[in-house]
Amino acid sequence: MELRAEKVTVYLAETFTIARSSEDEAEVVQVAVTHGGVTGYGEAAPIARYEESADSALAWLQHVTLGDDPWALDDIQDLLPRGEQAARAAVDAALYDLQGKLVGQPVYKLLGLRRVGPPTSWTVWLGDPDDMARRAEKAEARGFKRLKLKLGGRDGLDLERVRQVRAASSVPLMVDVNEYWTLDEALDVLPQMEIEYCEQPLPAGSPDGPELKRRSPIPIYVDEDCHTLADVAACAERAHGINIKLAKSGGIREAVKMAAAARALDLGVMLGCMVESGLGIAAGAHMASLCDHVDLDGNLLLRSDPWPGVAWEDGIQLPADAPGLGVERAAT
Ligand code: MG
Repeated sequence: MELRAEKVTVYLAETFTIARSSEDEAEVVQVAVTHGGVTGYGEAAPIARYEESADSALAWLQHVTLGDDPWALDDIQDLLPRGEQAARAAVDAALYDLQGKLVGQPVYKLLGLRRVGPPTSWTVWLGDPDDMARRAEKAEARGFKRLKLKLGGRDGLDLERVRQVRAASSVPLMVDVNEYWTLDEALDVLPQMEIEYCEQPLPAGSPDGPELKRRSPIPIYVDEDCHTLADVAACAERAHGINIKLAKSGGIREAVKMAAAARALDLGVMLGCMVESGLGIAAGAHMASLCDHVDLDGNLLLRSDPWPGVAWEDGIQLPADAPGLGVERAAT
């Protein structure tokens, strides 16, 4: 099999701000794997928090050899170098896309899953409380059935942010603190928030995690604490659920195992994403039926999606019922 990779910039419709950074665009890496004249595609959305970038992903991909059998996923796994989870996810997605195209079936069917999923949340990025409320109102009017609020302003206004958004909208809310609260802060504000769950309030690895799980009236989900299957058991001590992202897990195959492990530990399962095109989002959409909560708005945040094919229907990001991942590069 032949592998090609290129760096691509995707452009956000509006500046996206979270606790640790702000961005107007994102660099992703798109991978093409060709076998017998058929090409599968996948996308890597490297996460700076874990010291991955489009450049480090590209460098890793230069050392990848895949052998000649697109079905031999265990053998291919053994051939891959260590590290670079996002690039690994791009290879995994490209192989599933290729497999689907070879047999004429969508990826969700290859996985034995259903073409359903919970509604995606829309991310209301961090800003002033009244500005967040206004943007929440707009998102609900657009048809989003869940809103995820980015918190962690460290300005004493996080509770006010939730209150103003709650007053302005009627859909279920969740919050993502991106590691910016302390235990005391979390225990102070969480009981006063009308939300479904709180994502990563404490820094990854915080020794306060188990105590927060015991005392929080609101379910805690971990994101920065949970990357691959090896992390899931420890997350059960500090959280009620995990946020799986393909850019952390290294792809669909590992993510499916993580979802199963989470169920065995009585943990909720959320599927998240980065700022990425429909090519990246499609990989998530094909396994969304395994999840309780889905945050797959990455391509919807873009000015325009360079890889259309995922259908946003009644608030749900549905994969196309077409071979492979079911997305195609838009004509430019
Ligand atoms: Mg998060």
